[in-house]
Amino acid sequence: MTNRLDFLKDMIQDLKDRNLYTELPVLGTEQKNRVVLNGKEVIIMCTNNYLGFANHPRLRKAAKKAIDTWGFGTGAVRQIAGTMEIHIQLEEMLAEYKNTEAALVFVAGIAANRGTIQALMGEEDAIISDELNHGSIIDGVRLTKSKRMVYPHLDMTGLERVLKETKDSRRRLIVTDGVFSMDGDIAPLDRIVELAEEHDAMVMVDDAHGDGVLGKDGRGIIDHFGLEGKVDIDMGTLSKAFGCLGGYIAGRKELRDYLINTARSFIFTTAHPPSVPAATMEAIRMIQDEPHHLRQLWENTRYFKRGMADMGFDIGHSSTPITPVMAGESKTAMELSARLFEEGLFAKPIVFPLVAKDKARVRIIVTAQHTREDLDGALEIFNRVGKRMGLI
Ligand SMILES: *Cc1c(COP(=O)(O)O)cnc(C)c1O
Repeated sequence: MTNRLDFLKDMIQDLKDRNLYTELPVLGTEQKNRVVLNGKEVIIMCTNNYLGFANHPRLRKAAKKAIDTWGFGTGAVRQIAGTMEIHIQLEEMLAEYKNTEAALVFVAGIAANRGTIQALMGEEDAIISDELNHGSIIDGVRLTKSKRMVYPHLDMTGLERVLKETKDSRRRLIVTDGVFSMDGDIAPLDRIVELAEEHDAMVMVDDAHGDGVLGKDGRGIIDHFGLEGKVDIDMGTLSKAFGCLGGYIAGRKELRDYLINTARSFIFTTAHPPSVPAATMEAIRMIQDEPHHLRQLWENTRYFKRGMADMGFDIGHSSTPITPVMAGESKTAMELSARLFEEGLFAKPIVFPLVAKDKARVRIIVTAQHTREDLDGALEIFNRVGKRMGLI
């Protein structure tokens, strides 16, 4: 090997000094409520497998059947020869589920955000973004030459101010996470849509943590607020509550047609293996014909949050299953996570600069798959560790 990459040693040390270095935790089992992680059996509370679909027998079966019918790989990008009937069936099903004219699936949520924002927004335009938006939105914005405007988190007065400041731009796009992934709070989408209408701006919502979690049958944040037909671009991911893989854009037919031809992250990548749309369709069916998963998710969420609050933990202002357990400094959050792991509970610390310096936390995500025994076990571990560390 050459020594031209030696500079990486210093770069890695720098990451370590700033608490930004991580090794990959490795699962020795399938993804479920209890896993073997780095060789140790733990309750896992930091996945986006909200409904427990990632390892569900119905999805396994659908995927296997698709492999038998369609094979494993697709051998081409969507535009050339990678689109099979099963990809189209999923897009039609998604459009119907999301109550839009059309939908387009990308290989991942990050690709959907990057490709869509890059394709739609040009130099004469302005993109208006909540300061806590997801990294994939920020990437999308960076791929454009548009004017970039950021408003303070959830601050509608700030948004209005920016709308006034950008009135001379050709087109404007307000883009926001629906549910914010670090704090679990929900964007005031009703108010955002009102302001957008008033100022003639487009709205794009990233529903990655709202899909399968909010709204009737998990239809997401637009259904939650009753805003069907009022949001221009409904972006979401199939990788989280749906337990599969992929991102999608739902909206008008012209939006789909245009993105197929211009979104680089759609054009220059191979189509999903057919088992992916097959399993995703099964997930969309299941969320509608087995409502108990969603019910259980919310019941577990309430139970866990009540337990944590009763013990005196600061769990922020989340209104979703995302539950930040505030630790303060980065070092404290890292220690909390490490001690939880020793006691048999896995959840990653989230530290500066991902969150503010004094707002480091361990982020818990409750899922429908957690049993009462898991939740009680987790609460007991938090109680022990919290007391030892003086957090409660
Ligand atoms: C996870 C996430 C994405 C990316 O989705 P993937 O399908 O995992 O690429 C995009 N936006 C938000 C808000 C997310 O939380």
